[in-house]
Amino acid sequence: MAASEPSSGSYCAHVAALSEDNVHRNYHDTQYGFPVHSDDELFGRLILEINQAGLSWTTILNKQANFKKAFDGYCIARIAAYDAKDVARLLGDAGIVRNRAKIAAVIHNAQQVEKLQLEFGSFKGWLDQHGNLELEQWVRLFKQTFKFTGVEITREFLVSTGYLPGAHATDCPIAVILHTAATPQNHTRS
Ligand SMILES: [Zn+2]
Repeated sequence: MAASEPSSGSYCAHVAALSEDNVHRNYHDTQYGFPVHSDDELFGRLILEINQAGLSWTTILNKQANFKKAFDGYCIARIAAYDAKDVARLLGDAGIVRNRAKIAAVIHNAQQVEKLQLEFGSFKGWLDQHGNLELEQWVRLFKQTFKFTGVEITREFLVSTGYLPGAHATDCPIAVILHTAATPQNHTRS
């Protein structure tokens, strides 16, 4: 989500007034701040956050299904092996964001995640290992590891996957659900 959009607290209030089939309502109620257990789904979230740069989150949510289809269901192994033909296919896909730098970053990042999977067992394992970092340390780590992950993208990725707090206002019904489900070992359980 971009800084120009409602901050987390007001985002909760904002979506509460929307119909249940609204993309923001759906995202807020079922994804935002929820722990993600699959590496491919985690990587998919990173793809969406990278592609959001300079665009509205509404645009990305409306294209969410297109992204998943275009990027092979977010399969890290497949994306890491993308060649020039795949890049051309993606640049020609009007259903997603056709931006060469973002596409190149996604492919590079998939290759980086494959290395993390070898070393840490999984992308999630790597994230869990760093679960107690402060935002500033996360940003440094992401910059060392990935491309196209500035402060905003790194923060939103981590907030949206529950690694950093602040997705929901404390009185939001979803915050209550997430809090009830959470344990101190939340991120190390699979
Ligand atoms: Zn909320």
